[in-house]
Formats: sequence, C-alpha cells, structure tokens
Amino acid sequence: MPDGSRRQAHVIGGGLAGTEAAWQLAERGIAVVLHEQRPVRATPAHRTDHLGELVCSNSLGSDTFGSAPALLKAEMRRFGSLVLAAAERARVPAGSALAVDRDVFSAELTRHLEAHPRVTIVRGEVTELAGPLVLATGPLTSEALAGRLRDLVGRDHLHFFDAAAPVVSRESLDESRLFAASRYGKGEGVYLNAPMDKAEYERFWLALRDAENAVLHLDQERSATFFEGCLPVEVLARRGEDALRFGPMKPVGLVDPRTGKRPWAVVQLRQDNVAGDLFNLVGFQTQLKWPEQKRVFALIPGLEHAEFARLGVMHQNTFLAAPSFLEPSLCWREQPDWFAAGTLIGVEGYTEAAATGLLAGLNLARALSGQVPVVLPPTTMLGALARYVSTCDPAVFQPMNSNWGLFDPIDPPVRDKRQRHERMAERALADLDRVLLEAGIAAAAPA
Ligand SMILES: Cc1cc2nc3c(=O)[nH]c(=O)nc-3n(C[C@H](O)[C@H](O)[C@H](O)COP(=O)(O)OP(=O)(O)OC[C@H]3O[C@@H](n4cnc5c(N)ncnc54)[C@H](O)[C@@H]3O)c2cc1C
Repeated sequence: MPDGSRRQAHVIGGGLAGTEAAWQLAERGIAVVLHEQRPVRATPAHRTDHLGELVCSNSLGSDTFGSAPALLKAEMRRFGSLVLAAAERARVPAGSALAVDRDVFSAELTRHLEAHPRVTIVRGEVTELAGPLVLATGPLTSEALAGRLRDLVGRDHLHFFDAAAPVVSRESLDESRLFAASRYGKGEGVYLNAPMDKAEYERFWLALRDAENAVLHLDQERSATFFEGCLPVEVLARRGEDALRFGPMKPVGLVDPRTGKRPWAVVQLRQDNVAGDLFNLVGFQTQLKWPEQKRVFALIPGLEHAEFARLGVMHQNTFLAAPSFLEPSLCWREQPDWFAAGTLIGVEGYTEAAATGLLAGLNLARALSGQVPVVLPPTTMLGALARYVSTCDPAVFQPMNSNWGLFDPIDPPVRDKRQRHERMAERALADLDRVLLEAGIAAAAPA
C-alpha cells in the first residue's frame, strides 16, 4: 500500500465502520482510498461484494428515545452519518426498531461512496499497514492481516464465536398459527409471533437442547467465549428449561388474540426484506447442523413446513485488546496517524461499528488538517463506548454494545428507570452539541 500524502487517507475494510469512516473523511476534504478485500477474497459470512453488507440480522436496533441504541443513532445523525442515511432509505417496518432491507441498504452505501469525487475504492486484501489510515477490517479480518496485527500489537488476538439466525420464506409459513404484533403494542404489529403452550414449549426445548451441533473447524480452546448478547439459541436451551422463556422466547408484552392470554412462550419473526417475503427468527442465532435446524425449528407452530432462505451458521470473530493500544479518540497511541474502528476494536453491533468508524474518520480528518482529535465526553453514548475500548482493563476486556451501564451515575439520581434514561439521553445530546460547537465540527453533508 503506498504512503498517503498529508491529505490522503486509507480506510481498510469496507464494512459498517469503514464505509462511515470513508464518508466522514471524504466529506471533510480528505482524499480516501477505501480498501475492501471482497470479491477478490471472500469471508465466511459475507455473500456479496457490496460495501456495508449486513451478515446476520437486518436490524440496527431500537430507535425509541430513551433507549441506548437510539441515543447512539441520535448522536450519529448530528455528524451526518452515511450509514444512518442509507438505513432510512432502506427501512422496513419493525415497530420501534430501525430494520432495513439489507440489499437496498448496502447498495445505497456502495452507490454513495462510488459516486464520491474524493473516494477511490480498491478491491483486494491489505496485508501491510502504512498511514494515514483507519483500520476497520471487522470480526472476519483476513488471516494474513490478523497475523500482521498480532505482531504489531505485541499480544495474541482474542477470539470468540458468533452465530447467524435462520431466515424463512413467508409463503411457507402457516399463518393461521401465528399472530402479528409488537411487544406492548408498540409500533405497528409487524412481528409475526409463533405462540406456544407449556406442552409445545417443553417438546421444543428438549429437542433443541439435545440437537446436534455442527463441527467447528476453529480453535475451540482459545475461542470458547461466546459474546453474551449473541448466544446461540441451543446454548441458552442447555442452560435450563426456562432460559429461553426469559430470553428470545419471552412472551412479555404479547397477547394471543385467539386466546386473549399471554402465551407460555413465543418465537418472534421479523421482516427481513422490503418485499416482506422473508422473515428471520429473532434471537435464534445457532450453530446446529443444518438438517437438525430444519428438524427442530419445524416444531415451532406455523413453521412445520418452513422453507429456509438461509440457515443459521457459525463464524469466528476476531477482536483486539484495544485498551492496550488505543486512545479515546480511537487513535493508536504509538502511531498518531493510525486510527481503528468497528468490531475489531471490541464494539459489538452494526450501529456501534458504524459509530466508531464515524469517530475514527472524523478524527483522522482533523489530524490531517492540523487540528486536535476530538475526545467525546463519556456522558455521550459514543464517548462512553470510546472510553470503554480505550480504558477498560485489557485482562477482562470483552466486546460491548451501546448500553447505559457504560455511563457514570447521574447526579442527582433519578429512581424511575425510564425517566433516568431519558434524562441521560437529553444530557448526552446537549453535551454533544456543546462539544461540536466548541470544536467547530459541522455535520457531514447529508447523503
Ligand atoms: C456471523 C456474524 C453474525 C453477526 N450478526 C450480527 C447481528 O445480527 N447484528 C449485529 O449488530 N452485528 C452482528 N455481527 C457483528 C457484525 O459483524 C458487526 O456488527 C459489523 O458488521 C461490524 O462492522 P465492521 O465494519 O467492524 O466489520 P464488517 O462489517 O465485517 O466489515 C469489515 C470489512 O473488512 C473486510 N476485510 C477484512 N479483512 C480485510 C483485509 N485484510 N483487507 C481488506 N479488507 C478486509 C471484510 O471483507 C469486510 O467487508 C455479526 C458478525 C458475524 C461474524
């Protein structure tokens, strides 16, 4: 990779973090070379050569004011996020969540970056690093680059597993056994719900608990840690009879219109594309063998004859011990023109990856323009995430979603949870606006 001039930057990885980083750089006057290995080199999870491909769920999380993911999105909109602009264009109904048609979404991102006069997209694997750059190669960083990174940071990578949820075709569902509703009647009744009584649940739970896993050709010993928020559904089932009923199959906020009662347990299906003909099984990421998935998931009411557009799969995730070498600006401590973002630095989730890409892109643009990189206050969700990945004890460092636990307690304390979170969200946006004004940061032009 050639050395960049002072006004040129390289973004490595055209995923959620890399596309947002490239956009922020380009919109702030920097010429960007965006390196994406696909389609020259594939990953185990991506299926297209589009930038910003969503590999599993089609949801970018809640957009309800007072929720942690919604605050992160509100903050990103203040900067003119390309990822969120593309998500708005690709939006599909999903109650209070921001869910997208994945093909429309990634096509929008690709189109905008291809058309940008300051962005050059280079297809091919990067194996050496030379600045100025944003490193955003994600959880499926190619092996050669992962090896290079291991040498560079002087410590072993940490590995963990994630699993992708199955997608079924709507026409194959027996909708007489399902009902449409969102929890607590929030938003439109866009989820299809498969209710189970106690006997149905017990039969399903036993089948899932005893089903056969795929053989994983991965380094099991070093990778045995699952990210708690993305546990395979069968791992949950093996934790006990009620674990699913308190997890992805919880029936709270739902009433079966045919019985007028709350079911014993529920499988929720969420629309997966604009056409509305594909639905994914919410929270049903799995590493079961494919025939086992078909057998066990056919026990879900309404899914007896389900056709699977995609079965669940198992993948390795790679992330670095970011607190050992990253600043809260997302700059590498020893390399002032290197920045890093996305799942590779231990944030978990599409939105979190894009948000850190945004901050890394913004700050590299500032560094290349002779300005001091901005450190966002930890009272903001993005600032709190950046603080986490740069200051957590590396010995216990694990990937992290946006959540209120990243914040310091609010003073004076507010007892009611909902009010407390709304107060924290208001404070975050006010603090962010102040910082943007003081640092003279304008939003990137809306896409
Ligand atoms: C199987 C699986 C399922 C997941 N499911 C979800 C989910 O449902 N919801 C959710 O929020 N998050 C999910 N995640 C996490 C998800 O990957 C992140 O949320 C998000 O995609 C991370 O964005 P990123 O930009 O860091 O990485 P990516 O979006 O993966 O982008 C990284 C890009 O870098 C490219 N690349 C890698 N190495 C090189 C190289 N050497 N040279 C050039 N390019 C390279 C890759 O091809 C890829 O396009 C899942 C992850 C996996 C692996």
